[in-house]
Amino acid sequence: MGELNTFPVSYKVKGKRIVIVGGGEEALNKARLAIMTTASVVIISEAISSKELYEVGAEIVGRFETSVLDDTALVFVAETGILAEQVKAEARSRGIPVNVVDVPGECDFYTPSIIDRAPLTVAISTEGDAPVLARLVRAKIEALLSPDLGRVARLAGSLRERVADALGKVQAKRFYEDLVTGVGEPEVLLEAHAGEAAGEVWLIGAGPGAEDLLTLRAQRLLQAADVIVHDQLVPDAVIEMGRRDAERIPVGKKKGHHSFTQAQINTLLVRLAREGKRVARLKSGDPMVLGRAGEELAALRKAGIGYQIVPGISAAMAAAADTATPVTLRKVSPGVLFATAHGAQSEELDHWAALASSGVTLGLYMGKSIAAGTAGKLIGRGMNPSLPIGIVVNAGRRERSLYRGSLGDLATGDLAMEDGPAIIFVGEAVAHGDWAEAADLAERTYKVA
Ligand code: SAH
Repeated sequence: MGELNTFPVSYKVKGKRIVIVGGGEEALNKARLAIMTTASVVIISEAISSKELYEVGAEIVGRFETSVLDDTALVFVAETGILAEQVKAEARSRGIPVNVVDVPGECDFYTPSIIDRAPLTVAISTEGDAPVLARLVRAKIEALLSPDLGRVARLAGSLRERVADALGKVQAKRFYEDLVTGVGEPEVLLEAHAGEAAGEVWLIGAGPGAEDLLTLRAQRLLQAADVIVHDQLVPDAVIEMGRRDAERIPVGKKKGHHSFTQAQINTLLVRLAREGKRVARLKSGDPMVLGRAGEELAALRKAGIGYQIVPGISAAMAAAADTATPVTLRKVSPGVLFATAHGAQSEELDHWAALASSGVTLGLYMGKSIAAGTAGKLIGRGMNPSLPIGIVVNAGRRERSLYRGSLGDLATGDLAMEDGPAIIFVGEAVAHGDWAEAADLAERTYKVA
C-alpha cells in the first residue's frame, strides 16, 4: 500500500477536446484510444505520414492556434520539434494534463491498457513499468467479460429512474444483481422484485478447500449473499470470496470454541431469511453429503422459506482425484459407498463388510481418530485384512498427505497422521490408484491401540 505514483481515475472528456500532436504511428495509436470517447479529437500535424490517421474520424489541422486548447481536456504529444514544444508549453501554462509519448518523465498522466465494454471500462496500469504484463492481464480479463456486458450496463443505467420509483432499496439492489448476472429480462425481474424482499437460503458446497475447486455458481451466489453462515472446515479464502460488506457468521464446531448446536443453526437460518436476507449457508465439500443438510432443509420447509442447493466437490471425490483412484472400476469395483465412520453401529458395519467384500469401494468420512477401531471391527465382520486401504488428509489442498497399506495394517494401531480432515478408502480399487507419494502404514511405528 501507498506505493503508487499515479492515481487511477475516470476523467470526464464529454463535450471537450482531446488534442494529439503528430502525424505518425504513435499519433495514430493515441487517436484510436481518444476516439473511443465522445470527446472531439483534434490532430495537429504539419506532415501526416500515417494514411490511416485520415480514417479514424478525427479533425486534422496543419498548424497550431492556441485557441484549440480552449476546451481541451487532455493533450498527447507524439512527435518532437518546435510545434510539439509550443503545444506543450501552452498546455502546461493552462494546466491541461500532457502525455508525451515514450517520455515518462514529461508525462502528467499515463494511458492504461483498456478493456472497453462502454460504459464499463477496465483499465490496467503498471505505471509504465511492465506494458507486456499489462497486455497479458488484459487478455485474461477480456476472456472473462462477455461482449454483451456493455449493453447490460447501459440497460441498467437507462432503468435507473423506473427502478427507483418501483422498488425499495433492498429490492433494487437485488434487481440489479439479477440483471447483470443475466438471471432474466428487465420486465420480468422488475415484477419479480416488486413487493417485500423475500429472504432465501442457499446451501452452497464450498468443495474440499481449494478456491479453484469452487463452482462458478457458488462463487456468483456468494457474491450476492447478504450473510454468509459457514462451517469451520470452510477455508478463509473461500469465505473471502463473498461480498465485502456481507455479514459472516461462523457456526462451526471447533474444539474449545463456542459452537452452535444444529438446532441453533436451524433457528439462525430461519431468522435471517425472515429478516429478508439472502443467506449463503456455506458447507465444506458437497452440502448434501454428511452435512446435516436434511435437518436444515426440514427447518426451512417448515418455516416456508425458499432455498436453493449448489453442489460442491465432496472430500472423497477430491481424495480420489488426488490419488488417481477410480472409485468404481470395471470388473473390480461396481460402486462406491460414502459413509461416516463416526458412530457406526454394528449393523451398519455388517452391511459395509458385505458390500466391501463384493468389491464396493468404501469412502469413509470422519474416521481418522477411530480408524484403527473401525478397521478392527470390519475385519471382525469378515472383511479380508489384506484389502488395500488409502488415506488422504487434507484432500484437494496443497498441504495434503497420503497413507497406504492394508486393512490389517490399519487395525494394528493408531497411526500418527498429519493434522486435518481425512478420507479413508477401503477396497481393491485403491490398488489401482497412484499412491506413490503415500507413506506406507506397514513401515510406520504404531501406537498400539
Ligand atoms: N460435506 C462434506 C463432509 C462434511 S463431514 C463433504 O462433502 O466433503 C466432515 C468430514 O469430511 C471430515 O471429518 C472429513 O472426513 C471429510 N473432509 C472434509 N474436508 C476434507 C478434506 N479437505 N480432506 C479430507 N477429508 C475431508
